[in-house]
Amino acid sequence: MGERCCLYCQQIFRPSKFQRRQAVCGEADCQHRRRADYHRRKLAADPEYRDVCRDSPRKWRSRNPDYWKQYRQKNPASADRNREQQQLRDRKRRLRNLANNTSALDLKHSAAAVWLVGPGAADLANNNSAPAQVWVIEALPHRRAPLPPSCKQQPAGVAADPAA
Ligand SMILES: [Zn+2]
Repeated sequence: MGERCCLYCQQIFRPSKFQRRQAVCGEADCQHRRRADYHRRKLAADPEYRDVCRDSPRKWRSRNPDYWKQYRQKNPASADRNREQQQLRDRKRRLRNLANNTSALDLKHSAAAVWLVGPGAADLANNNSAPAQVWVIEALPHRRAPLPPSCKQQPAGVAADPAA
């Protein structure tokens, strides 16, 4: 059996004697990509597979309703980190929505930092930096709709039309 070039990493490999049509080498990254590609293709082409994949986690959750609650209790650091990450994702989503629903054309990320100095800083727990957000939003002035000119009134500063 001859050597082949891996579909993903382009490295030469020797196919398994049990997998004569093997096109991907045995490296973990390449195998991971192969399985992910297979899953993606199968999801797109096979409705039954799609249903099973959709229902499987749902069934597992109904059999294990307290799993995540217990996981969070056993792993508070992980739960805290997940909460922070979710808040970050929520913030990003709000910013994206804002960017899509505003007349502001240029929303830029600011890498501004706030430093607390002096004796009070020594008491800060773990020297954590507090996440801060500054949003600069320009309010549009209220515009009054112009009053329709009355047929009896001539607007100030406008000469009467001699042709009228
Ligand atoms: Zn490979």
